[in-house]
Amino acid sequence: MSEYRIALAGNPNVGKSTIFNALTGLKQHTGNWTGKTVDCCEGRYHWKEKRFSVADLPGTYSLSSFSREEEVAAHQLETQNYDCVVAVLDAGAPERNLFLALQVLTLQQKAVVCLNLADEAARKGVIIDEKQLEALLGVPVVTCCARKRQGLKELQSAILTVCEGSECANGFYRRFDISQQASEKLLRGCCSQICESCVSVGGDDRKTRRDRRIDRLLTSKITGIPIMLLLCGVLFWLTAVGANVPSEWLSALFGAIKGELTALCHMLAVPKFLSGILIDGVYTTLSWVVAVMLPPMAIFFPLFSLMEDAGFLPRIAFNLDKFFARCGAHGKQSLCMMMGIGCNACGVTGCRIIENERERLIAVLTNNFMPCNGRLPILIALIMVFFAGTGFGLVSSLKVAGILLLILTGCVLVTLLLSKLLSVLLKGQTSSGFMLELPPYRMPPVIKTLTRSFPDRTLKVLGRAAAVSAPFWILSAGCSGWTA
Ligand code: GDP
Repeated sequence: MSEYRIALAGNPNVGKSTIFNALTGLKQHTGNWTGKTVDCCEGRYHWKEKRFSVADLPGTYSLSSFSREEEVAAHQLETQNYDCVVAVLDAGAPERNLFLALQVLTLQQKAVVCLNLADEAARKGVIIDEKQLEALLGVPVVTCCARKRQGLKELQSAILTVCEGSECANGFYRRFDISQQASEKLLRGCCSQICESCVSVGGDDRKTRRDRRIDRLLTSKITGIPIMLLLCGVLFWLTAVGANVPSEWLSALFGAIKGELTALCHMLAVPKFLSGILIDGVYTTLSWVVAVMLPPMAIFFPLFSLMEDAGFLPRIAFNLDKFFARCGAHGKQSLCMMMGIGCNACGVTGCRIIENERERLIAVLTNNFMPCNGRLPILIALIMVFFAGTGFGLVSSLKVAGILLLILTGCVLVTLLLSKLLSVLLKGQTSSGFMLELPPYRMPPVIKTLTRSFPDRTLKVLGRAAAVSAPFWILSAGCSGWTA
């Protein structure tokens, strides 16, 4: 059975990854900020006994090859012969999104236009005449709400129709009397004309006004940083408070199991050397790692993902941007630091979004100063031992959260200081500008985030932590065996 090749293209944050996951059943991380996908992700699905391979291209505003994302997306569309390209648009901001769709149509004429985020568009009062748009572009237009999986069947049918059609369906050039080498200015003109005849904005745009009001607080020079610190403080406090009790329970449970295992070894007359290695070495170290690290991670990861999906993290990056500019580093470095709190490996690989080589190197070298999720529980444990005591009361948990916040602020300051130093020492291009789209505030998919983050993030990081602690099992096992 042959396989149709399709690609998803569109601006950042329009729901490409959500559509990709819904089609393929994969779990590519969806987040609410720019630059999340830099490489193409690939997946497969079946529909009406046909096979499709899907490439999720990086989100871009144009295909002008100014940034790494644009370069990758343009290269794919220029060099690959896709059977269908799905141009995913934010139905709530058609004019801005349509420009990329028209650029896509200049490169790949077998296409479907997907108007996603239809629920948000409806709330904003944006109405798009689907049929009229279809007639103007000459390609099928489908309205979707990917998060609720609405319109996906229609999208799959449209993709199949385009893949099976031998002729290219695109009548856009003839209609607007332009060539495929049309300039950006001409394409923007087409966008305005198309929107004039297909889009109407009615009703009261309460959501946008509400977003602006929240933004005035969260990105203000006076309130922005204090609110950001408060939010992080609450996050750490919830992690510290919530993790205490389950950590104690797990310790007690593992302690009881250890007693039973020791008794069993005794009953089976297992040599002391071997039981020392297995129980005092491997079991004790592993159970300590699980008891100390699992509860904080199981709380921190989902809360962090919820903040990310709700649209807070790009605002934090926006607030920090000016400090990075003063240190001769790139504003996008703040995004990599945010990713670094989730996982330093992701933070470092995420530095690819910085085009300037010198600035990218600075971001890579300093990312390690953000304590990742694997290190946060250890920090909490150390703070409890040295400063806050091991009680479960409100005062000690507030102390933990406060000290953790101080440490994190210190980490940001060290990062800034070192960035400044490195920007003086490292030779290369001078600092480049940074454009960051602040996404709308969105109600995050709470249940999905809670259920996904446990296997996807918590267990993965815990597995890595257990593997990293392996030398210590061996070491403590060796000591136990020796003393036995
Ligand atoms: P990408 O950057 O284009 O890949 O966008 P994502 O798939 O990462 O989606 C960005 C955000 O939009 C995520 O928080 C998604 O849950 C959310 N999202 C995606 N599709 C919809 C939709 O149809 N409606 C709403 N309200 N949110 C959506």
